[in-house]
Amino acid sequence: MYSRAMNLLRKSLTLLALFSCGPTVFAEAPQEAAPVKQKVAEEKESLLALYRDLHSAPELSFQEEKTSTRLAKELRAAGFTVTEKIGKWGVVAVLENGQGKTVLVRSDMDALPVHELTGLPFASTVRMKDHEGKEMPVMHACGHDIHMTCLVGVARVLASMKDRWHGTLVLIAQPAEERGGGALAMLKDGLFKKFPKPDLCLALHDTPEIPTGQIGLVSGTAMASVDSVDLIVHGVGGHGAMPDQAKDPIVLSAQIILGLQTIRSRELAPIEGGVVTVGAINGGTKHNIIPDEVRLQITVRAFSMETRTKILTAIKRIARGQAISAGLPEELMPEMKIGQDFTPALVNDAALASRLRGVFTQWFGAQNVQEPKPIMGGEDFSRYGMTEDKIPVCMFWLGATLPERYMEFKKKKEPLPGLHSPFFKPDADATVPFGITAMSAAVLDVMK
Ligand code: ZN
Repeated sequence: MYSRAMNLLRKSLTLLALFSCGPTVFAEAPQEAAPVKQKVAEEKESLLALYRDLHSAPELSFQEEKTSTRLAKELRAAGFTVTEKIGKWGVVAVLENGQGKTVLVRSDMDALPVHELTGLPFASTVRMKDHEGKEMPVMHACGHDIHMTCLVGVARVLASMKDRWHGTLVLIAQPAEERGGGALAMLKDGLFKKFPKPDLCLALHDTPEIPTGQIGLVSGTAMASVDSVDLIVHGVGGHGAMPDQAKDPIVLSAQIILGLQTIRSRELAPIEGGVVTVGAINGGTKHNIIPDEVRLQITVRAFSMETRTKILTAIKRIARGQAISAGLPEELMPEMKIGQDFTPALVNDAALASRLRGVFTQWFGAQNVQEPKPIMGGEDFSRYGMTEDKIPVCMFWLGATLPERYMEFKKKKEPLPGLHSPFFKPDADATVPFGITAMSAAVLDVMK
């Protein structure tokens, strides 16, 4: 028994040893890898210059006028037929190359109202008015500048290798991902009607949580749906010294907020993903006045439409129930408004994700293809898969932190400055060339 067990162990160890150095031993780098890498190397300096330009000139959602003009120019120069102003500032670039699949690759273009603190020599000092007319500092704090540079890089690489793929390549630069309306605006403006309709849609998103040279690929649900909910809690105002003659909406709001905590903990199944966060509460003017209104701003996240409906229904019920309990009349029940900027959950097509996993493993080795957990962040790239055509979509994570820097933070047990942080600083010199190579690999495989 013992020796048989030892034999088995030895055999499995040998197998393990073979597989752990896996693809570098077994996988043959595909023929396309060399020309892609060569073209990426040739274009690297000019693309990094483009990246720095884009980084230092960020624009807020639905105001991407200069950014879209620059991208249109770059994509035209790469040989694509370019149409501008689709869904306000959206850019659509088409390259036809014979019979075959139509593949769409999407980048977003907008930046965030964040005051950049990276200290980079090309850091943004831009300020502009947001959609409410408030002047804001602006920064590419989500790396959409990385995405755009990769899109232009992919355009240059694939235009130079037309003998290696066939079909129609559609590259789009989308406005307003951060506010959640950009994808819908492009679709409503005829993205799938005025231009070749894609058989599949691809996108990448940078992340500091993965080292450069690596990819994160989630099969199935990858990101949550996002709703912005406004709750107006009414009361009856009065003197702070005579609460018996008022109906205090501040106390009522406190009870509603505590009640909302039971949605996640008591109404959703423990393994069901869902978030209810009250991000803002505003009411009152002075110490001794009971106001007649309090406003709550709530973000709601879910992995399915079913959970989303459950959460939204529960918020309404709890708010109303607490108001009844406080003795408020029907005409003073809380008002709930669900924002127009709803973003559906992002579901990566399982077959497409599995195909991409195969491609990336072949090109970069299994050790460089991670399978991260889904997150409760949102992405309106999901919209492209939700039209009546039910087009398969897949977005993968692109590692954006140099391995040395990544290890340094892990050792210190400090979190790396994340997406939307004023300190977010992707290591562009390594991230951009790898992002272009990865996306080109994916497109070349599906358009073989
Ligand atoms: Zn983003």
